[in-house]
Amino acid sequence: MSNLLPEMTDLWLKTINWQPNDLQKSQFQQVYEQVIKGNSQFNLTRITEPIEFWEKHLWDSLQPIVPLLSLAKPQIIDIGTGAGFPGLPMAIALPDSTVTLVDSTRKKIAFLDTLLAELSIPNALTLTSRAETLAKLPQYSNAYDVATVRAVGSAAICAEYALPLIKPGGIAVLYRGNWTEVEQEALISAISPMNGKIDSIDSFTTPLSHSVRHCIYLKKLITSTPNQARV
Ligand code: SAH
Repeated sequence: MSNLLPEMTDLWLKTINWQPNDLQKSQFQQVYEQVIKGNSQFNLTRITEPIEFWEKHLWDSLQPIVPLLSLAKPQIIDIGTGAGFPGLPMAIALPDSTVTLVDSTRKKIAFLDTLLAELSIPNALTLTSRAETLAKLPQYSNAYDVATVRAVGSAAICAEYALPLIKPGGIAVLYRGNWTEVEQEALISAISPMNGKIDSIDSFTTPLSHSVRHCIYLKKLITSTPNQARV
């Protein structure tokens, strides 16, 4: 039997002013067990120790949850979800949301399909696709309230994947480690033609290993419709 994840109730509260209920705690544990079980077959993650899994996969995924708690039934898309991060913890923590877990690698999605069939997480669904392909399909473009992207490429690339999929007024959350002026300039150049702007940048360290993190919140601007254009 695999190890138990730490509960960290106080640390959740202290760091992000949120804490999982009993159901959510048991779902986190089940996700952990499934990932460890699936690891040999699907090569999902190097992070396997319970404490590290809690910090790098659960806490890290949910750090930006507070601004999302106020959204009513948000439609969320997690681009390049891999073994389900950050989308799966989001789906567990936000049961009123619908989370679409997207990855271009079929075997990652096959793992998630097995996991979702075994766990009761009715608000998560999967899609095998490249993000740039989805953007060309009307049912997915401009369709989401929130897009999340962790560890998929440069911030500029992540933004190029995320912005077309969110609604005007929607939020893209880019999960980053270190953050530099150069990356910020490249990001701004990439998003300006796509009606995107940096809404805020959150800089913090993870609570146990004190690793540097930056969360970049992008907003897609609401533009006037063509018939409102002024002469
Ligand atoms: N977000 C996860 C996994 C990161 S690894 C985490 O943070 O743990 C990057 C994942 O992105 C891989 O599973 C890869 O298959 C996927 N990926 C890379 N380019 C993609 C694209 N253009 N569209 C969708 N998924 C992509």
